[in-house]
Amino acid sequence: MTVKVRFAPSPTGKLHVGNVRTALMNVLFARGQGGQVLLRIDDTDIERSTLENEDAIRADLTWLGLSWDETFKQSERFDKYEIAKAQLIEKGLLYPCYETEDELDRKRKIQRAQGKPPVYDRAALSLTDDEKDKLEAEGRKPHWRFKLSGGRIEWTDLVRGPSHIETSSVSDPILIRADGSYLYTLPSVVDDLESNVTHIIRGEDHVTNSAAQIEIFEALGGKGSAPAMGHMALLVGADGDKLSKRLGSLSIEDLREIDGFEPMAVCSLLAKIGTSDAVDVRSELQQLAEEFDFGKLSRTPARFDPEELKRLNAKLVHAMDYADVRDRLAGLDADGGEAFWLTVRPNLTVLKDVVEWARLIEGPVTPAIADEDADFAAQAAELLPEGELTVDSWGAWTNALKEATGRKGKTLFLPLRMALTGQQRGPEMGELLPLIGAEKAKARLKGVTV
Ligand code: GLU
Repeated sequence: MTVKVRFAPSPTGKLHVGNVRTALMNVLFARGQGGQVLLRIDDTDIERSTLENEDAIRADLTWLGLSWDETFKQSERFDKYEIAKAQLIEKGLLYPCYETEDELDRKRKIQRAQGKPPVYDRAALSLTDDEKDKLEAEGRKPHWRFKLSGGRIEWTDLVRGPSHIETSSVSDPILIRADGSYLYTLPSVVDDLESNVTHIIRGEDHVTNSAAQIEIFEALGGKGSAPAMGHMALLVGADGDKLSKRLGSLSIEDLREIDGFEPMAVCSLLAKIGTSDAVDVRSELQQLAEEFDFGKLSRTPARFDPEELKRLNAKLVHAMDYADVRDRLAGLDADGGEAFWLTVRPNLTVLKDVVEWARLIEGPVTPAIADEDADFAAQAAELLPEGELTVDSWGAWTNALKEATGRKGKTLFLPLRMALTGQQRGPEMGELLPLIGAEKAKARLKGVTV
């Protein structure tokens, strides 16, 4: 059996760390098994799906290195879903319902008040043809529910182990809305069957859907036609809180464009959190694929901590050779040569941090010297150590200045930083000073823009 997985995002928004983790686990599993990956765009919700989101999803996955072997869109396949709909109606497994949202709400409230679970009472199943005609004559349009067996659905979950759902405790799911639009449930099964998907790997929030879908698989494809299923625990923030509210700011696009993270830092973190492996960075997806194992996935939520992402990213950047980054440095207008790169590299969290270093070193920097610090700065220029500046020069220099002027702490260090960089904050001055060099340092201390 050739493994085939699918990642099925709805293009109703941008990819974020939560749904990319699902994509990643699918790809890692498939690649480790020599299997195939299908990228399916679940765009049955025509109103909320956009081409822009679809393009962004493909661009994000490509940037992350998550490739696919096949792709299609659900919106091109409505004829197939219509056929499946007809088959289910024919089997008596899909039935029209006419309740409005308000009516359903009221029913649920009454059930709750009676201490009963708010499961749909299947009232629509006992409507006669006359009654249905009457409702339709009133202008009501039916939505369609799948008739669950009422039995116990069992499967061996790839992550959660032996699992089951009592379908008697679940409402018959709505597959088609009153406006005729499909929820993802039925199209997904139709496509998974036709594409010969062997494994469905997705978040734990889909467990109840899975039970209904297993019954739909069997109704359309026969017994045993449901793929293997794996439901991963969801992501939470570093504080253990649900990430859902913050996911907007954790889009892959922002991690790339705004924060400047490396794709392998993102992939490594998402592959390792919530597993029994140590959270560490890998430089190749293939290595993550070789290390992937469902048995390592924990059933407790995985913590996503942006600080950890920074740590992994820094580790990647610190190991980058000049030849690897030269073009990117040039693109950032920050190619100061190999010596420059090797000196600043240990200070970077993300590659683009290099820009600040390059600018402070190359100049022009307009020194910021307060009137009351002008003499002090001039004195500092005089006391600058002779000869080639090194990483030890800063300590020697500031000690000498301390003795000579009696200044210490902030009043000693801040005017030097402001004069040399024009800014209140920035990289370690000890490392910056030798790169700026004695000539420029002296000029800046005298207030000259260089
Ligand atoms: N489009 C669905 C979602 O994004 C797909 C779920 C799935 O079957 O993987 O939730």
